[in-house]
Amino acid sequence: MSWKDRLPAVEGRLVLDEPLAPFTWLRVGGPAEVLFLPKDEDDLSRFLAGLDPGVPVTPLGVGSNTLVRDGGVEGVVVRLGRGFAAVTAREGRRVQAGAAALDAQVAKAAADAGIAGLEFYTGVPGTIGGALVMNAGCYGSETKDVLVEAYALTRAGERIVLSNAEMGFSYRRSAAAADRWLIFLGGLFQGRPDDPAAVHARMAEITARREASQPIREKTGGSTFKNPEGHSAWKLVDAAGWRGKPFGGAMFSPQHANFLINTGAATAADLEGLVEAVRKDVREKFGVELQWEVKRIGR
Ligand SMILES: Cc1cc2nc3c(=O)[nH]c(=O)nc-3n(C[C@H](O)[C@H](O)[C@H](O)COP(=O)(O)OP(=O)(O)OC[C@H]3O[C@@H](n4cnc5c(N)ncnc54)[C@H](O)[C@@H]3O)c2cc1C
Repeated sequence: MSWKDRLPAVEGRLVLDEPLAPFTWLRVGGPAEVLFLPKDEDDLSRFLAGLDPGVPVTPLGVGSNTLVRDGGVEGVVVRLGRGFAAVTAREGRRVQAGAAALDAQVAKAAADAGIAGLEFYTGVPGTIGGALVMNAGCYGSETKDVLVEAYALTRAGERIVLSNAEMGFSYRRSAAAADRWLIFLGGLFQGRPDDPAAVHARMAEITARREASQPIREKTGGSTFKNPEGHSAWKLVDAAGWRGKPFGGAMFSPQHANFLINTGAATAADLEGLVEAVRKDVREKFGVELQWEVKRIGR
């Protein structure tokens, strides 16, 4: 059966064989068999309910933590857009944000409303959907510290609410997101009162710190490895001699040795090959098992 006959009718857009490289920071990888850009929550829910449960469905944010493999992604990739991007300040120093809202927009909306505690989001270049899956954070704060509850759809299109505890957060991980198929619609975040100017000043400090220490204008996936217990991943990569060493079109950044970079014409295989070579080398030299923080999708 062709895709045309297998896909439920939608109000948003369905695109066949759509290249995914432009949708990710690393700018590599093959196409999605089907890319779905739902109009809104109802559209997405009806699509999931009507789609054969055997068809794989993969959510994608802005791809700042995702490596798409060269063979592309089987089934449907869902990318949430404007219908999922609202950010609203709520009573009690809370902020409600859709999954497609950029973390930086959430930080800014909170600051404008005199809400402190979410300014760390200015340092994470992803969406709220990605932040919920990754327990994103920086400079001592993470999503776990500020989330009240998250909203999601199951693969059958049913809406559920997960409390902070039910998200099962740990370092750069949500057990809820890892253990079952969910697509996040957004979350409710708790802050505390502060002067907007003071919050904006702290955000400016975070931006300056990031610009000085990270290759944020490169094609990168951010931190490639999680920091192993008791170690810094970048120090291990550096000590093993991989900082700035080319591998096809891939390299670990001379500026930040845990940041993987596409230097121009890398394939996903170059990038993944380099990371696996470094993991092996670090294991052999230092007996430490580095774990991927970047998510890989596709074949
Ligand atoms: C320059 C740079 C700096 C970075 N610095 C930091 C940092 O300081 N701290 C930090 O924590 N991270 C950092 N990152 C990594 C990245 O920004 C975060 O992990 C971010 O939360 C990913 O969001 P995203 O929208 O890009 O997710 P994607 O990369 O698009 O997706 C990541 C994972 O989440 C899933 N996903 C995305 N949206 C949804 C959804 N709505 N529902 C269900 N699943 C979904 C995807 O399937 C995938 O498994 C950095 C990345 C870059 C490129």
